[in-house]
Amino acid sequence: MSLAVLDDLNPQQRRAVEHGVRDGDASPGPPLLVIAGAGSGKTNTLAHRVAHLIANGADPYRILLMTFSRRAASEMTGRVERIARRTMGEGARVMAAGLTWAGTFHAVGARMLREYAPQIGLDPDFSIHDREDSADLLNLVRHELGFSKTRNRFPTKATCLAVYSRCVNSGAPLEEVLASAFPWCAEWPEELRQLFAGYVEAKQRQNVLDYDDLLLYWAQTMAVPELAAEIGGRFDHVLVDEYQDTNRLQADILLALKPDGSGLTVVGDDAQSIYAFRAATVRNILDFPGHFDPPAAIVTLDRNYRSTRPILDAANAVIDLAAERFTKNLWTDRDAAGRPRLVTVRDEQGQAYCVVERVLENREAGIPLKQQAVLFRTSHHSGPLEVELTRRNIPFVKFGGLKFLDSAHVKDLLALLRFVENPRDRVAGFRVLLLMPGVGPTAAQRVLDHMADAADPLAAVATAPAPPRAGGAWPDFLAAVADLYAGRSGWPAELERARLWYEPHLERLHEDSTVRHADLIQLEQIAAGYPSRERFLTELTLDPPDATSDQAGVPLLDEDYLILSTIHSAKGQEWSSVFVLNVVDGCIPSDLGTGTSADIEEERRLLYVAMTRAKEDLSLIVPHRFFTHNQAARGDRHVYASRTRFIPKALLGLFEATTWLAASAASATRPAGGAVRVDVGARVRGMWR
Ligand code: ATP
Ligand code: MG
Repeated sequence: MSLAVLDDLNPQQRRAVEHGVRDGDASPGPPLLVIAGAGSGKTNTLAHRVAHLIANGADPYRILLMTFSRRAASEMTGRVERIARRTMGEGARVMAAGLTWAGTFHAVGARMLREYAPQIGLDPDFSIHDREDSADLLNLVRHELGFSKTRNRFPTKATCLAVYSRCVNSGAPLEEVLASAFPWCAEWPEELRQLFAGYVEAKQRQNVLDYDDLLLYWAQTMAVPELAAEIGGRFDHVLVDEYQDTNRLQADILLALKPDGSGLTVVGDDAQSIYAFRAATVRNILDFPGHFDPPAAIVTLDRNYRSTRPILDAANAVIDLAAERFTKNLWTDRDAAGRPRLVTVRDEQGQAYCVVERVLENREAGIPLKQQAVLFRTSHHSGPLEVELTRRNIPFVKFGGLKFLDSAHVKDLLALLRFVENPRDRVAGFRVLLLMPGVGPTAAQRVLDHMADAADPLAAVATAPAPPRAGGAWPDFLAAVADLYAGRSGWPAELERARLWYEPHLERLHEDSTVRHADLIQLEQIAAGYPSRERFLTELTLDPPDATSDQAGVPLLDEDYLILSTIHSAKGQEWSSVFVLNVVDGCIPSDLGTGTSADIEEERRLLYVAMTRAKEDLSLIVPHRFFTHNQAARGDRHVYASRTRFIPKALLGLFEATTWLAASAASATRPAGGAVRVDVGARVRGMWR
């Protein structure tokens, strides 16, 4: 019966899928590593392996599947279901629904900690801070310590958080992290140490965990032998995709789950390791086999099913110049005539315009928007393109950039829920209190201090000193908190109760309150999909929905829309047509001033990841002039740029070099001396040849 599962696979993929499984017996076998280049079917093989295990009797509830995003996890369970349906019919749906342990390391960690927190001295009712909240809390501590006032060159809150996070995830000492990755902060080791100690203490006092804590405390749980045995014993099979981008804590956790490697499968590509800046280490995947005795079996895949030959040839040539690499080049039989394009444009406006033109041409040729993606190094690089798309009414969804939850009004409303869920969370508390007119930081602090001293902090709000200038807003607030505290509306209706409280503030604080109101209504619909407030807050914080062109929250699934994504968030995905923005030195690779050679190598792999997302059509865009934000130099400026060093002259023959001469639409139709006039209907012809 499981033969059908294997039907579409090549012999190497089959070996990986069948490893350790005997007919009708899927009990945990020896460890397996699948290491292979982009588009060789690693993720597909992993999905087949899960289906095959289940078809041979493995219990889906005892399978732990870890991916790098929630989207990847749900795509994987979808794939497993489709594969299984062919062999198991309708039972497949039930079976895939049993794959309840599929998610990111962080999400699985959060779930484990809700259960096991008391055993390592944590309160299981912790709330989770996203990166912005973490930076805000760090900032509060920084103010308390007086570092921001007296020392004007002290690193920003975002940089402080990045340093902290790197130390936690790599386990490396602060000085080492500063010297290797943040040399411009190296003069502040003592202050940073003090700041981090204060931050850790504040998190504990307020019972909040940041993203890094989810891994850190999970790893700590796994360091207790009885707990490790108990948690590891819950699973027969543990499978991890994109293993090259895990960090030391994640590897520690994985190895503690299955010290002898039984039932362990990891999959990845060292040439696609792009998260060293978050302390991921490619050593995890390279060292994996040697952790076990006998060493884990290794399966390599060498056939690419994704891209046409010209695209694959160009991508292979780029990665061939890498200093170090384990995976071998791939081959394909997908012949095609068109080489990938290398398009020179005047500036970022020209780039935006040229991409939009090409996207529309593609659509006219029958490639839907959803089959096209625009990729870029950093989220803000898509700014001019977003403007151009909005102007032309082309819907898009942006991955990895500004998230739905990052919008101020959504955060405001959620802050009230978070405040009720965990009244000791000062970041949430400040946010809620400062929404009211006449409440400033001093008054807010007084209220929070009063609560912090009480046995039941939420009940204590009612007896807190009323902020003198808050007027009627204060009793309204107390009434809302009392309702939510008592659970009078029930879940998810309490979100409506919270919104009714927030709405007058929304109207006072934001001019475009109608659009924002629509977002909040949508939030209520999203909430309806979660069983409880706690699950809703946890999962939304860990992996929020992506932003859409109208900022209205989750994408409208039946509508056609263009994908905009950072290269990092494009991992594992594929599209017919792919555009990569700003393929210039100073962007890919970025930070030429401070980058070590290891950093530069990571940027080469980033370009490889971007190029290998394309199935039929690939365009790399090279603007002559582009806008850069340089963190080390703390400056924004325009620079003249040249083609990335990763495509030296010798490789030019693999590309079709073109020049897009048209300037932006705006400058092409600008009347002399007047305001910019935009003729939406007009198309300035470019020079695609
Ligand atoms: P990445 O490194 O980018 O994550 P990957 O190795 O995980 O890529 P997949 O995404 O699993 O590759 O597969 C790439 C494409 O190849 C998908 O469209 C997949 O359906 C297709 N594919 C994989 N294996 C086969 C096969 N044996 N026959 C036909 N198509 C296949
Ligand atoms: Mg993959």
